[in-house]
Amino acid sequence: MIKYKWKHLLTVLLLLSLCFTGCNTQEADRTEAPSSQQQNVVETSNPQKTGSLTVQYLDVGQGNAILAESEGHYMLIDGGARESSSFVVSYLKEQKVEKLDYLLISHFDEDHLAGAIGALHNFPVDTLLTPDYETDSAIYRSYEKAVNEKSYEAVHPKVGEKYTLGSAEFRIISPVSYGHEDENQDSVGMILENGENRFFIGGDIGLESEKEILAAGTDIQADVMLMNHHGSHVSREFFEQVAPSYCVISCGADNSYGHPRKDTMSLIKEKKTPVFRTDKQGTVILHSDGSQISSEQQPCQDYTPGQRGNSGGQDDKNESLELFNNSDAEHCDYVLNVHTKKIHKPDCGSVRQMGEKNRAYYKGDLQMLKDNGYTGCGSCNP
Ligand SMILES: [Zn+2]
Ligand SMILES: [Zn+2]
Repeated sequence: MIKYKWKHLLTVLLLLSLCFTGCNTQEADRTEAPSSQQQNVVETSNPQKTGSLTVQYLDVGQGNAILAESEGHYMLIDGGARESSSFVVSYLKEQKVEKLDYLLISHFDEDHLAGAIGALHNFPVDTLLTPDYETDSAIYRSYEKAVNEKSYEAVHPKVGEKYTLGSAEFRIISPVSYGHEDENQDSVGMILENGENRFFIGGDIGLESEKEILAAGTDIQADVMLMNHHGSHVSREFFEQVAPSYCVISCGADNSYGHPRKDTMSLIKEKKTPVFRTDKQGTVILHSDGSQISSEQQPCQDYTPGQRGNSGGQDDKNESLELFNNSDAEHCDYVLNVHTKKIHKPDCGSVRQMGEKNRAYYKGDLQMLKDNGYTGCGSCNP
């Protein structure tokens, strides 16, 4: 008698579970139907069941702010500059973000940090990820204040570490080392991965950090590449290793830095890689279902480089100093005159006559300098 009852109960349970499985399948099918907003399929590969990931490159003018969401879990990568801080906060509120699973600050430059401070004040943060260095800027001090108020302890992720965000996961690829003269090179970079879809996000890394990443043998291939440092320098070798199917550039319309750079845009164009730009299109939104990436707008296919501001010459000089002054008198391979754009060997007689303000100590590739309009000094023949 009892046995029979159990048998009966089991049958009922079996039927019930079958019904639930059926319902679940229907539900899944329904959510997989393409919505009218997500029509532009930009990448295809083998179908595989993974949850969804949305990556939004917010239009924060000259700066970076990326909101990634998977299965109700959120990560904000940088928060843009001061001017866009309140925009970022209200954007996140509109998206019904209640807390951030991660706030990742790639590095402590104002165009990445200011809005992140706004986010710190407005949303609880489970894990705060930052590079492992400190700086003495005013904006850094207000960041420290916000972190102390909330009693947060920043985690400094190491290359190779992996973190989970819903169905997605991100793997840290930089910085390989610290102590660069140019803080941009200390940016925390990652590959954000959902099923078979990969997004490269490297903050403001440049040629130096790229070299270290390549030397470390890290797998950096990705479907979508956020161009480093607002479309500033990228080496051919690095770009070819990422080999993206799509590029995204986050920079301000008519910015005075001349971002994106002309050589970077020519390289992307040469590779026939479709490009999305926040300065031309506003916020760029991409969706991944684990096998396909779709976008809410078409790539803009605008490969025109940024124009330098009115103080062009001065900016040019500053950028050269920022990019190429990466060593010191003792260790450098070359001494540069950023004003005349001449390359000298460190022992060249004319180095002594060069004004301190125009001098950059450079360790690295000679060809890189030539690619950037520098020529060798006629007497020391570097
Ligand atoms: Zn920046
Ligand atoms: Zn920077």
